[in-house]
Amino acid sequence: MSLSDDEIERYARHLMLAEVGGVGQRRLKAARVAVVGVGGVGGPAALDLAAAGVGALRLIDPDLVSLSNLQRQVQFATADVGRLKVEAAAARLTALNPHVTIEARAEAATPDTAAALLAGCDVVVDGTDDFDVRAAVNAACLALGVPLVSGALGRWSGQVGVFAGRPCWACLVPKAPPEAETCARVGVIGALAGIVGSLCALEAVKLIAGAGAPLTGRLLVYDGLTGAARTARVAADPHCPACGQAKAVLNSAT
Ligand SMILES: [Zn+2]
Repeated sequence: MSLSDDEIERYARHLMLAEVGGVGQRRLKAARVAVVGVGGVGGPAALDLAAAGVGALRLIDPDLVSLSNLQRQVQFATADVGRLKVEAAAARLTALNPHVTIEARAEAATPDTAAALLAGCDVVVDGTDDFDVRAAVNAACLALGVPLVSGALGRWSGQVGVFAGRPCWACLVPKAPPEAETCARVGVIGALAGIVGSLCALEAVKLIAGAGAPLTGRLLVYDGLTGAARTARVAADPHCPACGQAKAVLNSAT
């Protein structure tokens, strides 16, 4: 997959990086990334991925843009309130980079739909704030063998992890917290969305280009109040409902 003169100029600052270069940029162009949840995390991630020249972005979100989204979801304008998020974001991303193919899916990822929604993608970025959706996306990524970049935020704290096989996201979050701490419930500082979304995009670009050391099996936690970041390994849970030994036995028996 070659790059046009326009693309060579557009991606010039990537092409001069040893870890990306022409090979990495062509890999980005050949890649398809799914972004599940085009909100505070997924929106900034999608902007960065489109700007970076990922060839195809599949946006998955059934929601409409609301006024209270605009404090952090910088992919939207005031005039977008009431539109489908995937449609408003698709227009914004196409304006940013017409070389990117946008696939807009105004659907929710559920245990029944997630595998079909994510099929054919090279990397999945999950920025939703719903436990059931995240569990369905994690299970689908395991089944499809696709790496999952997971970003979350609340109040002043954000976290990003990459999961490819074991440990999986469900090893980290085996069951729904008793009171889900969604941004709607606890609040979130707006700029944190861009930080976490950009970190997700960065990890996806690293995975696709083969650059550096992705956060695979690790979790980066950023504290916006102190400015401190730390990274910890995620332990594989032998009893994980999604990837543990019991699940592996079940899969091999079928
Ligand atoms: Zn697991």
